[in-house]
Amino acid sequence: MTTAPTARSTTASDALFDRARAVTPGGVNSPVRAFNAVGGTPRFITSAHGAWLTDVDGNEYVDLVCSWGPMLLGHAHPEVVAAVQAAVARGTSYGTPTEGEVTLVEEIVARTPVERLRLVSSGTEATMSAIRLARGFTGRDVVVKFAGCYHGHVDSLLAAAGSGLTTFSIPGTPGVPASSTELTLVLPYNDREAVAAAFAEHGDRIACLITEAAPGNMGVVPPAPGFNQFLAETCRAHGALFISDEVMTGFRVSRSGQWGTDGAVEGWTPDLMTFGKVMGGGLPAAAFGGRADVMHHLAPEGPVYQAGTLSGNPIATAAGLATLRLATDEVYAHLGAVADTLRPAVADAFAAAGVPHVIQSTGSMFSVFLTDRPVTDYAEAQRTDSAAYGAFFHAMLDRGVHLPPSAYEAWFLSAAHDDRAVQAVLDALPDAARAAAA
Ligand code: PLP
Repeated sequence: MTTAPTARSTTASDALFDRARAVTPGGVNSPVRAFNAVGGTPRFITSAHGAWLTDVDGNEYVDLVCSWGPMLLGHAHPEVVAAVQAAVARGTSYGTPTEGEVTLVEEIVARTPVERLRLVSSGTEATMSAIRLARGFTGRDVVVKFAGCYHGHVDSLLAAAGSGLTTFSIPGTPGVPASSTELTLVLPYNDREAVAAAFAEHGDRIACLITEAAPGNMGVVPPAPGFNQFLAETCRAHGALFISDEVMTGFRVSRSGQWGTDGAVEGWTPDLMTFGKVMGGGLPAAAFGGRADVMHHLAPEGPVYQAGTLSGNPIATAAGLATLRLATDEVYAHLGAVADTLRPAVADAFAAAGVPHVIQSTGSMFSVFLTDRPVTDYAEAQRTDSAAYGAFFHAMLDRGVHLPPSAYEAWFLSAAHDDRAVQAVLDALPDAARAAAA
């Protein structure tokens, strides 16, 4: 069965977008929400329950964005809501330690190889702080990252590759001074030779290499088998720290994140890890942590300064703890089963419409590239047909399925994506894929 687009009024969203643009740059508080890559009006949401969003015009959508990852259990899970309500009734912030912080950190330490963890409020803070700590610990300055990996809007990481493979980078956006990126090396992802060359030339200056544990910010581009292990070993050989950014994959790809699927199996551990999204259950909570001897260098134990007025906020820790406690093996099995249903259905729809496509995934996190060959790095990702994705996106939206409004984003599932939600996606796919062919 396929679904005809229903007449979905966007009058109220249009009006709010006009109001928003009059007072906020682009009308949004984070750029990708503005629909610039796909055109049209972002839907202004009034409520969300389970797998469904409701907008100000009363339209309902199956949500495959899940707040860009955090909503592992779906929206407004009753036990998460109850935990938040109980926490908020006890006060919103104390600026002193709480038991909730200890318990949340213990839960994360139990699921991952980190020995010590510091809570912060956003993934950006987590990666920024991990890099400062790596520099403080090693006494070195150079940071290696990969093109297409996003680690938040940290100045030194908003960098574009320089002219040669092992040349230092240039600012990736106006507002970042050249001095902030001149110590950043940007390499092509999945390229062992580039990594080896960079370490051969600059190894004794490299404080750390940071990578998404499995990139999801250029669409999903999984690490080639053994690539993360190679990175960990290369860093160790040169006295640099290996920082695995699990802000997106952490507690989503498996109960131990991406590391649960590679490092835990292959027997290596990152020196530092960063987390966010799922661990806050939809509220602002994130973290960085790792080896005890490295974390020992952090204030107040050590000299490397880092702080936050709202770090470990009691409402955010309550939401995060409730979410992680409810993220059982059954939840991960369900996410896997839904992904196993949707991936082939997306592929079949594009195949039937004659649209070249590649579906790439890690765990239940997947995305579709409208291209005819596997995407292994950012240069390949940029070859994909983003105009066709825009047509596909809007055809899905018209049929009640809210995909990420960009071709370069992962699709996110939740425990609340039940048969009804999955069926709604399956019904919308064939016509939407045909729209991409047009
Ligand atoms: N690291 C990764 C891998 C991310 O995907 C993101 C955000 O999407 C960040 C860091 C930054 O997190 P935040 O948006 O909470 O600052």
